[in-house]
Amino acid sequence: MRSETDVVVIGAGQAGLSAAYFLRRAGLEFVVLDQNAGPGGAWRHRWPSLRLDKVHKFHDLPGMAFAEQDEHRMASEVVAEYFDRYERAFDLPVRRPVEVAAVRDEGERLLVESAGDSWAARAVINATGTWTRPFWPHYPGQETFTGRQLHTADYRSAEEFRGRHVLVVGGGTSAVQLLIEIADLASGTTWVTRRPPVFKDVEFGPELGREAVAKVERRVRAGLPPASVVSVTGLMRTPQVRDAEARGILDRKPMFDHITPTGVVWPDGSEQRVDVILWATGFRAALDHLAPLHLREPGGGIRMEGTRVAAEPRLHLVGYGPSASTIGANRAGRAAVREIRRLLSTQREALP
Ligand code: FAD
Repeated sequence: MRSETDVVVIGAGQAGLSAAYFLRRAGLEFVVLDQNAGPGGAWRHRWPSLRLDKVHKFHDLPGMAFAEQDEHRMASEVVAEYFDRYERAFDLPVRRPVEVAAVRDEGERLLVESAGDSWAARAVINATGTWTRPFWPHYPGQETFTGRQLHTADYRSAEEFRGRHVLVVGGGTSAVQLLIEIADLASGTTWVTRRPPVFKDVEFGPELGREAVAKVERRVRAGLPPASVVSVTGLMRTPQVRDAEARGILDRKPMFDHITPTGVVWPDGSEQRVDVILWATGFRAALDHLAPLHLREPGGGIRMEGTRVAAEPRLHLVGYGPSASTIGANRAGRAAVREIRRLLSTQREALP
């Protein structure tokens, strides 16, 4: 079935819900489409050992406090409960499960298509995050490996690796957290990263946050793919990290040259037998459904002006690039709605 509305929001994570809150306040007609079975955005899929005391900082959505006191509860459960309360409190029209397959330019409107229904909208706010696009780099011999390979998106518990040698690939916070978790049960761990990791002793405060956001913002303004926040801020040397360093868990090796059926080999010929390769190699923005709009620049990214796509002013990307954090997603939701309100009122004034 085809329907018409002012705005379609794609994705009901932090960014999509924040946008929906401001759309509700602006009195615009809208619908939120989300492919998940229930509330929580990507958080509902995060591994059980990611408890609240292990996340950096989870910011409230606009208009309602998160207010969870128990730091030992699973982030996946608590955030899903919070988003559920939020959607009901503000009566947000979230339709799920609806996976958006394509967004097309129909002239006056943008057509948002799923397998069953389609929505013709005056503007679209895309808030699809990255979780559904885990990034697996390719290394020679990878397909010959006879052990287990998994991505952090599939990680559930360190218990699965008891007595096995685990190789962790990647230089981000998740790689470090999972290495520390797995090291207690595994027969051994090896950590490889492309670049030497940079640990910082300063606390991740507002100043460092602003610097990181500004760097990523410059990239997307220039039409480059957004960089991960860790690549611009470095890793925090928490007491847990200091302890792991002292125990030798974070003795990092450079990238190996190739993978064999039983392990990995470095350029100097040295070899490590491993049972498991855990790819903690991050995620990419989930934007395949925007392909019909041909937005990619030669640099590989989408050129942005704030949250607005430079080449398509009816489309905003929130939770993308510089706004890919819970606080950034909140701000982006508000900024996108402010601009869309202006755009729609200009369109209405122009009507005969
Ligand atoms: P998501 O939460 O990913 O929501 C996107 C939604 O879009 C999902 O519900 C998805 O199902 C839906 N979707 C995707 N594609 C489609 C489609 N085609 N059609 C319909 N629906 C679709 N940030 C912090 O600020 N603090 C932290 O402590 C923190 N910890 C993190 C820990 C981990 C392990 C990771 C991976 C990230 C962490 N982040 C943290 C980053 C943070 O999760 C995100 O920046 C923010 O929560 C993402 O919100 P979002 O709304 O952009 O995306």
